[in-house]
Amino acid sequence: MTTERLVIAVDGPSGSGKSSTSRGVAKALGLAYLDTGAMYRAVTRAFLDAGVDPADAPAVIAVTVGADLEISTDPDDQWVRVNGRDVTTAIREPEVSANASAVSTVPECRANLVARQRAIIDAAPNGIVAEGRDITTVVAPDAPVRLLLTADPEIRMARRKAELGDKVDDAQLADQILRRDADDSRLVNFTTAADGVTHLDCTYLTLEETIDAVLGLVARTAR
Ligand code: C5P
Repeated sequence: MTTERLVIAVDGPSGSGKSSTSRGVAKALGLAYLDTGAMYRAVTRAFLDAGVDPADAPAVIAVTVGADLEISTDPDDQWVRVNGRDVTTAIREPEVSANASAVSTVPECRANLVARQRAIIDAAPNGIVAEGRDITTVVAPDAPVRLLLTADPEIRMARRKAELGDKVDDAQLADQILRRDADDSRLVNFTTAADGVTHLDCTYLTLEETIDAVLGLVARTAR
């Protein structure tokens, strides 16, 4: 009997629930899980810690290309290390969210991280759920299951608020969702589904309902 590797590509804007959904789907199917946003965040953490000016693109590229980046693909045990330092918690700080576009809008940085992401996807023995902004279109356009997960901005802001609580005020929240959407969409289109990509609007779905909808899609299309 042959078991085929299954690659599931998930894109969507911040706060759409794509991380929780992707992790839930990976657990249900016994697959690995890759949070590509954590890689952009880890490099952002590294350049901020090195005192690099976000506007200094050549320096940001040098930090990205030279970064020793390790990331867990275990959906039950997520961690990320950059240059030997565990930054699992530090990459969630508002300062990192606010500066990630200094990495993600630079094509040389994207190319470097995309290559690392493809290597991680190829190395997953049973397959993987990979999520981000450009997985369905650039990183894994040949994945048998490709999905764009969206939700209305008000819902995404409310979900992020519930996640971060008092750590962010309303201005930081708007920055994390609305300004980041605008910046991120400069290089990658993650608001409309590319050809062959299924669009799932989860504005009115719970997390469990969203995971079930994805599992249904996998059952219909992947095997
Ligand atoms: O998904 P998350 O909010 O953690 O991503 C952090 C940042 O990384 C995004 O705002 C975006 O700039 C960048 N990103 C990207 N492409 C991906 C994943 C994340 O540009 N595939």
